[in-house]
Amino acid sequence: MWPLCLVALLIHGDVAFDQHERALIQTGVDLLAIETEQRIRLTVRYDYDGGPAALRRALIEPTLLRLGWLDPKVALADRLMRVHVVAWTTQPRIFLIPERIAASSVHAGTPFDLVYTHVVMHELLHELGVDHVPDPRAVMWLNASPTLWLTDWDRVAIHNALDSRADVCDTHVLGD
Ligand SMILES: [Zn+2]
Repeated sequence: MWPLCLVALLIHGDVAFDQHERALIQTGVDLLAIETEQRIRLTVRYDYDGGPAALRRALIEPTLLRLGWLDPKVALADRLMRVHVVAWTTQPRIFLIPERIAASSVHAGTPFDLVYTHVVMHELLHELGVDHVPDPRAVMWLNASPTLWLTDWDRVAIHNALDSRADVCDTHVLGD
């Protein structure tokens, strides 16, 4: 079922994420590793400070950014995607809007930590090229939900995505 592929990827994180958010992001990273039997191993290093070097790097290397509600990019994303976005990924950049995640968790009556970790997992999988799946219980379901466990639909989508990502797959690690 799983490809003979191991993704080990460094992601630059925005220094604006607070300690609690960093812990939730780490939980998402850990769950992806556990649930893919260590096929997806991500490391987040909080070194994106918005400076010129960080901005340049964010154009070519995976970078996780924290946006405020009023950031002009948020309004633009709303218009382009025709929904009230809580996060989105434009490889290699991932954008999280914590205030909106908080609002959506209140709206859905689910704990913030759960929704936040779900959104992190969902966007990290987008970063790896995984698309949405038509399963409301899946992590890759279109809508933010409190799901933290990969379903068979997720696994097939991950399998297909990683199969075509020779650039991030190290086939030699598990291939012999
Ligand atoms: Zn999505």
